[in-house]
Amino acid sequence: MTVSVWKTTTMIESIKVNLILKDNPGTSFPPASKAILWIAIKGWQTSLWKTVDKIRVTHRIIHNVLTTNVCSRHSLLHTDGFVGSNGTKEADGMSLTGDDVRYMREAMEEAKKAESLREVPIGAVIVKDGEIIGRGHNLRETMRDPTAHAEILAIRQASEHLNAWRLLGCTLYVTLEPCPMCAGAILQSRIARVVYGTDDPKAGCAGTLMNLLQDGRFNHRTEVASGVLREECAELLTGFFRALRNRS
Ligand SMILES: [Zn+2]
Repeated sequence: MTVSVWKTTTMIESIKVNLILKDNPGTSFPPASKAILWIAIKGWQTSLWKTVDKIRVTHRIIHNVLTTNVCSRHSLLHTDGFVGSNGTKEADGMSLTGDDVRYMREAMEEAKKAESLREVPIGAVIVKDGEIIGRGHNLRETMRDPTAHAEILAIRQASEHLNAWRLLGCTLYVTLEPCPMCAGAILQSRIARVVYGTDDPKAGCAGTLMNLLQDGRFNHRTEVASGVLREECAELLTGFFRALRNRS
């Protein structure tokens, strides 16, 4: 078993998956004895390669990428104990971790608090050194404040906790891709890493409409990972709007 990861990126779920059979190009999956899984990632060319030599494993990688959008390296490390050739840690530190799912669940809990107030269910948490230091959920209606987005409220709480405006070494988890305002606040607060659940085709500024978080012209850039618990985060929103339609 060989699993090689040359490079990983944060935009893991902007997916195009091509399976190239190394020994037998042109034949289709699954009869591969040896295959290269190529994941082309938005904004990047070739970002993640895995060489695998078992159909079962190849299938698992594809399954994970396509259905859960959890980094296949992560799933490999945590299913059958397969370990990447470069060990358990990525050199560039940009891949997903097991904690990402755990903290995204915390962000979802925040989103549910918003929902219980009849607010659009979006939630965020900020984590530093394994500790949640900021929480927030959308309170736009309750506070009658267009800036009361989950991320902004979580950033304020984290800044208060650290008694500093720089949130160095912090990761922000949010159920929905940040809007331009929140992306701006993320840059201003120097957050190191952003993990979001589902894309926002109407306002997403972490890669969907534009990518404010990784624009080299700004003085700060964050790592971005997307697609963590994507289906569940999206379902929170679709369920909310479905219920709203049914009420009216
Ligand atoms: Zn926002």
